[in-house]
Amino acid sequence: MESWEKLCKMPYKAIREMQDRKLRAFLANQIYRYSPYYEERLKEHGIDPFKVKGIEDLRHLPFTYKWDIAPTDEEPRKTRDFVIRPDEEVSEKYGHLAEMSLTSGKGMVEERYFDFKPVHIHFTTGRTALPTPFVYSKRDLANLSESGYRLLDVFGVTSDDVVLNCFPFAPHLAFWQAYFACEKMNVSAFHSGGGKAVGTGNLMDAFEYLRPTVAVFIPGYCYYFLREAVRRGRDFSSLKKVFFGGERVPPGLKDKIKELFRQLGAEDVMVLATYGMTEAKVAWAECPSHEEYHGYHLYPDFEIFETVDPDSGEPVREGEEGEIVYTALDWRGTAVLRYRTGDIAKGGLLYEPCPNCGRTIPRISSDIQRRSEVKEFSLTKVKGTLVNLNNFFPLLMGHPDIEEWQIELRKRNDDPFDLDEIYLHLSTKGEVDQDRLMADVRQKIVRDTEVSLTGVFFKPLPEMVAQLGMETELKEKRIVDNRPD
Ligand SMILES: [Zn+2]
Repeated sequence: MESWEKLCKMPYKAIREMQDRKLRAFLANQIYRYSPYYEERLKEHGIDPFKVKGIEDLRHLPFTYKWDIAPTDEEPRKTRDFVIRPDEEVSEKYGHLAEMSLTSGKGMVEERYFDFKPVHIHFTTGRTALPTPFVYSKRDLANLSESGYRLLDVFGVTSDDVVLNCFPFAPHLAFWQAYFACEKMNVSAFHSGGGKAVGTGNLMDAFEYLRPTVAVFIPGYCYYFLREAVRRGRDFSSLKKVFFGGERVPPGLKDKIKELFRQLGAEDVMVLATYGMTEAKVAWAECPSHEEYHGYHLYPDFEIFETVDPDSGEPVREGEEGEIVYTALDWRGTAVLRYRTGDIAKGGLLYEPCPNCGRTIPRISSDIQRRSEVKEFSLTKVKGTLVNLNNFFPLLMGHPDIEEWQIELRKRNDDPFDLDEIYLHLSTKGEVDQDRLMADVRQKIVRDTEVSLTGVFFKPLPEMVAQLGMETELKEKRIVDNRPD
């Protein structure tokens, strides 16, 4: 890996040359030799890894889609073909190592262990496919720590801060990225496991006892947790920054969170966002600013980002809207190339130095729409409609009159062959005119998702909180699909 401090000042041209160089070496020395899946793809497409000059040649490589990697009932172990494994002995059997140590010495064995031996796993959370494992070697874990350090550096967190990590314990990137970040930055941190692990009341005690300056949360749970804390008259006045992972933070929700912190005695808390994906094995930090959005700072020595037209797959220009395509650079363990994330970056990729902090590393725009939750609905007898369920989040999370909400999908008459129905369950924020709110929400949902709600149910807040599984689920149940198979 490169020095972060150096990278942040490197002119873009030099960054690009470094990426070209790293890509050439990675394809020739690792991917082509040790990645069974991509070795086959390269051969199939007649790509000679020794003739690849750099990023420009990347587009000759086919895209990799979620379903290429995800295990199926027929091929439960297919993710193994994406793992860089120099030989079966190192990654699986170890028995051969004794022989290797006689011929090549103990040092070499240890080095190969460090580089290649899988020691850590995260799983994707997808609801549509089987969970997909992504493995890390020790070398990869060093990258994960480094990316955590970089993320905290962008947020302006230092070893003087105290961090309270409220992500739930889970084999997912979010929790472990926060853990390794704090360790590398030498921050005092309490990795609580969130309210589900320690109890919401105890978590509040931890805020008052440890006096953290930084908190790490899943946005939906944070909003609930802070409301509860206000209700119980808690004091969170030590807090300066809160950062989120797991999902996008719409501007409306940022405002609501800041206001709740104010009521808890913490003025002007900075609400920060991260963007991460299991497939990339790291998360990136949004450049901190109270007002404007300057995008997420990328790690050009760890990955190559492309933005492409989601329909044609053709690259789009700098600053233009496009789907994010991710390529691993110099990783071991699981590594994917030209991975179609399904996420759309509205403002595209940005290569000029950041107007907010001056770092020269590339950025991806703050406005990222996740497309991973696109489902087909038959809303008329004639044809199916594709609906992006993620579009409900910014609208309902950020709505000033909505406290909690849930979308429920059903079939009319519970008949699998009948039409789909979409219901909204919601609790209002204080006393509001229900008819006016309903009309407003209905109209905005049509605007943002192109579907009409079948019905709206107003619910008391405690009932809504229970229905969401706020205290019981790993992640609250915002969208429930009750359609019969
Ligand atoms: Zn910046």
